[in-house]
Amino acid sequence: MQFQKIINQKEAKSHLLHSVNAGKLPHALLICGSEGVGKLAFAVAIAQYMNCLNPTETDSCGTCANCQKISQGIHPDVHYILPIISSTKNGRALLTEDYFEEFRTHFFSHPYYGFEEWQQSLDGDNKQLMISVHEMREAKRKLSLKSFEGKSKVLIIWNIEKMRVEGANAFLKLLEEPPEKTLILMTCTDPNKILTTINSRCQRVYLNRLSPDDIETYLLQYKNIDEGRAREIARIADGNIQNAKAYSEAAGQSLHDAYVKWLRAVYRGSFNEIVHEIEPVFKSPKEFQKSFVRLAIKQIRDSFLFHLSLDKIAFATEEEAAFHRNFAKLLNPSKSERILTELENALRYITGNANAQLVFTALSLKIYIVLREN
Ligand SMILES: [Zn+2]
Repeated sequence: MQFQKIINQKEAKSHLLHSVNAGKLPHALLICGSEGVGKLAFAVAIAQYMNCLNPTETDSCGTCANCQKISQGIHPDVHYILPIISSTKNGRALLTEDYFEEFRTHFFSHPYYGFEEWQQSLDGDNKQLMISVHEMREAKRKLSLKSFEGKSKVLIIWNIEKMRVEGANAFLKLLEEPPEKTLILMTCTDPNKILTTINSRCQRVYLNRLSPDDIETYLLQYKNIDEGRAREIARIADGNIQNAKAYSEAAGQSLHDAYVKWLRAVYRGSFNEIVHEIEPVFKSPKEFQKSFVRLAIKQIRDSFLFHLSLDKIAFATEEEAAFHRNFAKLLNPSKSERILTELENALRYITGNANAQLVFTALSLKIYIVLREN
């Protein structure tokens, strides 16, 4: 993982490179930023830069033996601690290394692999992922060994807010007295959820929220979709790469098309037709279901803006505008409000792991009732 593969984050990159080149990189760094901005990828890029055999002033080379191993997750001096489902096997507590192969195949082929995807791949929708105290002992043991390749030993901890209190206490010692040539990189979404004792012992680097232009760059770089569609998705993804990813993976169909077909079926009130249109949605991954509802919320708001003749604020494409103009005739303030409430409730139920088929069916019926009222 090279810095150049990370979208945006110019300030964080230059701040970090400046510290490294001035020999002032602290031994512990907390990388903060919202979901989907590339925190973990950024940590790996630092690990790679510190271990690269031919680094330039701005990036690792990407081709030396160390770079290659790190970018595949197989370098013996770069260790990971990931939140996992706490459990035991044959009397032994499971650790990151028991899940690492699963993580490796996902993350290293796609550096914007998200925490929610990880949770789903561990079937952990209903289970809390956490970093256990056992993990600390193992990390201490590994870091006390001499480095294999002679450069930096790195410990990367993904989402340190998932660390339990007992783990944090054990971790403090490591943080205060790290073995020689050791770098500890932690990512976190919410620094307020970390124990202050940890917080006060690390320097922070903040990653920016992504702009629609950044999302477009991401889609063109990683998702191989055409420019027009990338722009459309970037505009509705709300600065979140996970949204953008879900939209772009929607089986090649435009999310907007799916929404329009569904809403038409709802308005007609044909139950079979509704089920036919909504089935691909509730059978999709949860992230896609949420994206669908978020898109619906945005579209209903935009249709209402058309109803108020505030078309210009809606930023709609030609195709969307044509739909909004027609649909706006069916709306009034009270109806829009109630439909939006139903959509927001549905979003909450989906996030809370309710049965998706039930949620979408009930949602369709409620919207039908609202639309058909006089
Ligand atoms: Zn290199």
